Amino acid sequence: MNSEFDLIVIGGGSSGMMAAGRAAENGARVLLLEKNENLGVKLLITGKGRCNITNNELNKNNLVDFYGKKGRFLFSAFNNFDIKDVINFFAKRGVATKTERGARVFPVSDKSRDLLDVLINYLRENKVKIKTNAEVKVIKFNNSEISSVVLKNGDEYSAKNYLVTTGGKSYPLSGSAGDGYKWLAKMGHIIIEPKPALCSIIIKEPWIKELEGLSLKNVQINIFQTNSHVKTGKKVDSRFGEALFTGNGMSGPIILDMSKNIGELLASGQVYLEIDFKPKLDFKTLDKRLQKDFLESKNKQFKNSLDQLLPKKIIPIFIKLSKINSAKKIHAITKEERKIILHLLKNFKLNISQVSGFERAIVTAGGVDLKEVDSKTMKSKIINNLYLAGEILDIDAPTGGYNLQSCWSTGFTVGENFKTK
Ligand SMILES: Cc1cc2nc3c(=O)[nH]c(=O)nc-3n(C[C@H](O)[C@H](O)[C@H](O)COP(=O)(O)OP(=O)(O)OC[C@H]3O[C@@H](n4cnc5c(N)ncnc54)[C@H](O)[C@@H]3O)c2cc1C
Repeated sequence: MNSEFDLIVIGGGSSGMMAAGRAAENGARVLLLEKNENLGVKLLITGKGRCNITNNELNKNNLVDFYGKKGRFLFSAFNNFDIKDVINFFAKRGVATKTERGARVFPVSDKSRDLLDVLINYLRENKVKIKTNAEVKVIKFNNSEISSVVLKNGDEYSAKNYLVTTGGKSYPLSGSAGDGYKWLAKMGHIIIEPKPALCSIIIKEPWIKELEGLSLKNVQINIFQTNSHVKTGKKVDSRFGEALFTGNGMSGPIILDMSKNIGELLASGQVYLEIDFKPKLDFKTLDKRLQKDFLESKNKQFKNSLDQLLPKKIIPIFIKLSKINSAKKIHAITKEERKIILHLLKNFKLNISQVSGFERAIVTAGGVDLKEVDSKTMKSKIINNLYLAGEILDIDAPTGGYNLQSCWSTGFTVGENFKTK
């Protein structure tokens, strides 16, 4: 058995690599164990291969709010390594960043590969011993202390300290299949039930597949819940921005951000959404605009009159739902029919059957109960020589770079415990 290490890091994702690099930079002898053939598999697919590394929200009070009630747990980690530190960390190593809409920060190159290369060099420069194809199967522990870890191939390693950064359960093909939760539960940690978050939703209407690939900009999506007591939907959430139709439902930033809420609502009732294609115009103003448009195209057929109002792909479905004869001349459209059109433009209803599962979820909500982790050091309060960082913690945030920021900050914070130089 090998026991030459100060720290064994289990999981070579964003938080594990940051922690291992920083601990080694501080003078620790570090072994990094990763079950995949390569490090940072998930990092490579973030932001559709562009990696939204952080969010340029420089006010720490505002920043923690994005993580909900649990955000305050991150204060110390953000003080150790904040947004500017992340940007400088990569800039110093040759990867410049740019800030896009919604303060989202990306590498100028639009390549997450560049960030991964920086992290791998950081590990090598600081002499972290890296073992890939090294799947941890068992963590041995007694008397509130870990004694060693055993790999799938039987190799056993021990160190003074251990860090579990095996991520959540989302996108299991990337390697994060929830292994860490099992070990930690055995050691006595409370695991808040992991649930998929930031995921697409499945829509009941069978014609939804005809809209696949259509993206919507500047729409408002309102979420409603009904149950046996409340038959007319109660509005429970609402977002403005971009959305996207998939083969069987919807995705895109505003859907992803509402998906955690939708998942919880589905557990206690029926849930549907309404798309407002013209959120900046109230009913009255939109009606005026419609009347003006119709006057200008009074001799057109109904089916040829909607191009200015809606994306092309959705028009055939819109016409079907309106039940207005598609060949009807605009001048023959009645006031009642105009009301139907208005209603569909402002309240285009779709019934939600479910949120998609872990397979395609961007993050996992739930994880190690934060009450059992010291927020200043990321040290477990249950096991003496254990640290925790990254998505395995019960913390998650909307899209925008916040999830990676918490990985960088919590990972770095673990590394700060190993200052020997
Ligand atoms: C498609 C997609 C796009 C995303 N885009 C963004 C984005 O643009 N911005 C953003 O902020 N967030 C984004 N996220 C979320 C973000 O990627 C994660 O929150 C973050 O990568 C989690 O980092 P982690 O280090 O905690 O875990 P992971 O990156 O999941 O790393 C965990 C590592 O542990 C390894 N491991 C697991 N079990 C074992 C074991 N038994 N033995 C050894 N190793 C093990 C895994 O193989 C994996 O490499 C995205 C996620 C997905 C899925």
